[in-house]
Amino acid sequence: MSKLNLIGLSRSELETRLQKMGEKRFHGRQLFKWLYSVRQYDFELMTDLSKELRDKLAENFEIKELNPEDHKISVDGTEKFLFRLDDNKPIETVVIPSEEEDRRPSTSSGQSPSTNSGRNTACISSQAGCAVGCFFCATGTMGLLRDLTAGEIVGQLMFLRDKYGPTAFSNVVMMGMGEPLLNFKNVIDAIRIMTDEIGLNISPKKIVLSTSGITPKIIKLAEEKVGVRLALSLHAATQQKRQVIMPIAKTFKLDNLMKAVRLYADSSNLPVTFEYILFAGFNDTRQDVEDLSRLVRGLRCKINVIAYNPVPGLDFKRPSDDKINWFGKELNQKVRAVTVRKSRGMDIDAACGQLAARKFEKDRVSAQI
Ligand code: SF4
Repeated sequence: MSKLNLIGLSRSELETRLQKMGEKRFHGRQLFKWLYSVRQYDFELMTDLSKELRDKLAENFEIKELNPEDHKISVDGTEKFLFRLDDNKPIETVVIPSEEEDRRPSTSSGQSPSTNSGRNTACISSQAGCAVGCFFCATGTMGLLRDLTAGEIVGQLMFLRDKYGPTAFSNVVMMGMGEPLLNFKNVIDAIRIMTDEIGLNISPKKIVLSTSGITPKIIKLAEEKVGVRLALSLHAATQQKRQVIMPIAKTFKLDNLMKAVRLYADSSNLPVTFEYILFAGFNDTRQDVEDLSRLVRGLRCKINVIAYNPVPGLDFKRPSDDKINWFGKELNQKVRAVTVRKSRGMDIDAACGQLAARKFEKDRVSAQI
């Protein structure tokens, strides 16, 4: 019989399991700390537990980390890991260095160029594939393969810390593969482990949950009071335009969505981030600047303008650098907090889900041969 992997179990789940085994609840807390804070994966070395309990744990449980199948480093320092889950589904995790950091070449010791600084952002996946199907997205072409467990979500961060140490990342964005709010319970469980002071101990304000706009789940997220930052993948500032590129916009209309976003901003007392991917000839005109600034008026927010990372086979183009700069400047005259990101990791399939989507397609073709 296969043993239960402890990675992904919360503090209270571990306490309950230990209690059911006839042990004191506080041993669950000790185990939680060994697992996530100390990152000790050998039961034998959990020295404040009795020998008898350590043996019992080893008999019943295992601690199994994610292992990358592929790893790519971009010339700009962006790194991408491809993991195979136990059922062979591919997912991606990306580490993005701070734009201000200088990016040194990889050292012979294998130390990452981007993980020396401690100012990196870990971009993690919440699902393998995605059902939302935004027309510009590589992950969307895969459809939903399955939800990730809380352990698989947290496991991506544990892998990075084990590989590069405590400064592996300082911010976490749930902006990788999948729609986090459509895997609500596991994502909330993972956030609770991430933010627990004897868990991964990451400040909730350093975690950004990015959604394509699942209105009722944004309201539910506000009720959970997890204190993470919310980002909305907006990409078009009118209902009519948004539904052209994001089919989900037909279900969750922009006016109601914006009400939910304002509610989240009020209840969390945190500014909301709007992600606005710039597509050549689609959402990069003066009218778009007007629409966008009108939409966010009166809201404490930041807008990230991101140049599209083209995905082979998809019919969207990246605007010229001049156009990207013009858009950013125009918008900045109307909205105070605007950042413009040209592109990261273009040489390593860094568009969301691109590497995993390619592996998935390759697997599919090989299965047919
Ligand atoms: S952009 Fe996000 S929500 Fe849309 S298909 Fe891609 S992964 Fe899913």
